[in-house]
Formats: sequence, C-alpha cells, structure tokens
Amino acid sequence: MRDDESVPPTPRPALFAAATLTLLCLGATGCGGGGTTQARPGPAVASPSSATASSPAPASPSPVHSSPAAPATRKPTPSASAPEAPSGPLSGKTVVIDPGHNPRNHLHTAEIARQVDIGTTHKECDTTGTSTNGGYAEAEFTLDVAHRMRTLLKAQGAKVVLSHDNDRPFGPCVDERARIGNKAGADAVVSVHADGSAVGNRGFHVILPASVRGGAADTSKIAGPSRDLGTRIAGLFVRATGSAPSNYIGGNSGLDIRKDLGGLNLSTVPKVFIECGNMRDPKDAALLTSASWRQKAAQGIADGISSYLNG
Ligand SMILES: [Zn+2]
Repeated sequence: MRDDESVPPTPRPALFAAATLTLLCLGATGCGGGGTTQARPGPAVASPSSATASSPAPASPSPVHSSPAAPATRKPTPSASAPEAPSGPLSGKTVVIDPGHNPRNHLHTAEIARQVDIGTTHKECDTTGTSTNGGYAEAEFTLDVAHRMRTLLKAQGAKVVLSHDNDRPFGPCVDERARIGNKAGADAVVSVHADGSAVGNRGFHVILPASVRGGAADTSKIAGPSRDLGTRIAGLFVRATGSAPSNYIGGNSGLDIRKDLGGLNLSTVPKVFIECGNMRDPKDAALLTSASWRQKAAQGIADGISSYLNG
C-alpha cells in the first residue's frame, strides 16, 4: 500500500513529469495520456535534471560508491577462493532492493507500530502492507518481484543486496531500510510495493524523494539522481509490462514526489519506490497475482536501473 504512510502526497510535478515520461514512452505501449502530454511545449518547470530522461549521461555522482582500494599487499590471485565478481555491464555496481513490508509484520503489530525518527518527523517502524481481495499479500508480492530483479541484475554483473529476505520476524523498520542502502554504498535503491486503493484506480507509479532537510534527513543531493532513476524506471516499466501509469496519482505521468517517506528521507544514495499496481482493483490484481506479469514487472524495473547505471 502507500507504504508506511497515509499522509497525502505533496503537489506533483505533473508538467515536468509528463514531459519527461513522454520522452521515454515513445514507441512504448500503454502510455496513458500520451496524447495530451505530447501537446505540451516542454517542461514548464525549470529543472536542471528534467532533461536527463533522454540524456545518455545523467549526472549520477554515486558519491558514496568509492570502492576501497585494495590493500597494497594484496595481489590478485586467480586461484583464490574469493567469490568471483560476475562480469557484465553492471560490474562494480551495487543495487539494493527493498521489498516493501514483511509477510510476518501482521504477527508483530506492536513492534512495527513503534515510532522511529525519519529526520523530518517520526513515523511507524513499518506497516503490514495491503493484499488482494483473494488474500495475496503485498509483502509476498514484493519479495517475489525482488527475487526476480535480483536474478536479472546479478546476471548483468551487479552486486545485489536485499534489505530483507523473509529472514526476520518483522520489518526492517523504515529507517533501517534506508540505512541498509546507505551502508551498502548503493549506486541505486528501489523499494518495491503495490498499492491498496479503490476499485477502478489502476496502474503503477514511481515515488521520488522530495528535497527535504531535517534531523538526519537530507535528500538535497539525491533528489536529482533519484528523479533520473525513477523516470527511467517508469518508462521502461511501461515498455516491459504494457501497464499504463497510474490513473489516480501523478496525473498519468507515472511519477509522484513525496516528502513523508522515511525510507526516502533518510537515504543518502539514489532511491525510489515503485507501486506496481493496485492490489484492491480486480483487474490490477489479476496482473499482480500472475507470475508471468511479475517477471515483466521485474524486468521493467531492472531495465530502468540498468539504464540509470549505464548512463
Ligand atoms: Zn507498500
């Protein structure tokens, strides 16, 4: 569902978002609202990185991913038993996948209700997430998509870290989810979710971090790169799944910006959320419960990450 948060989102950058997504939707199927967005003369919101959606060289500083230099005394030893770094276009890159919620959160309601500091305010540690009317839990969905993404990204040579893998009784809390990405020195982090909204509300949207500062929260350096990451994911999610951008959030842009999510506010590395569909809508639920559709969803997200990391 809308993650740990029920606060209405901030005003959305519909104009720039529509413009940027339109660029990525060229040639893709299912770009809802394309007819109207194409009529726009250009990004109405001046934004230095709004053009990066089509730019081959996004300003992705990856400031924290400076691989520590190998100790001087350590020489390459081809026969060593150290795990081999797979080669591929994403070699040397670290991706953190954050599967939203936890299948056992509902057994730990007191623990997940604990308030945690997200810099700008305090929020619940985590929430149970939503489910389809048939009982397919969001937390199962997010783990499944995360596993599929991990396979795809590792095949390209990326180092992939999951924030959890159904290996803990609840959580992690949203602040820890952010720290996991930070500590990993991730080049990109994606938090995977599915929404729980009214019937008739359909489609996906990517949530980008607003630029916020407060306490331990300072997203001023990651807001731009995260927008690039999220815009690429939105466009390639459309291409992989054929799904249209949300018809109820983001003005058909597939993009939303929020300042109330701890998992974003506390991140020091580029990070976005994706709500892959609405579990409470029967048509979207039919997609979300389909393994073949989830593979397409994972492909679209992984493609967006790859596009961002490859520049
Ligand atoms: Zn969620």
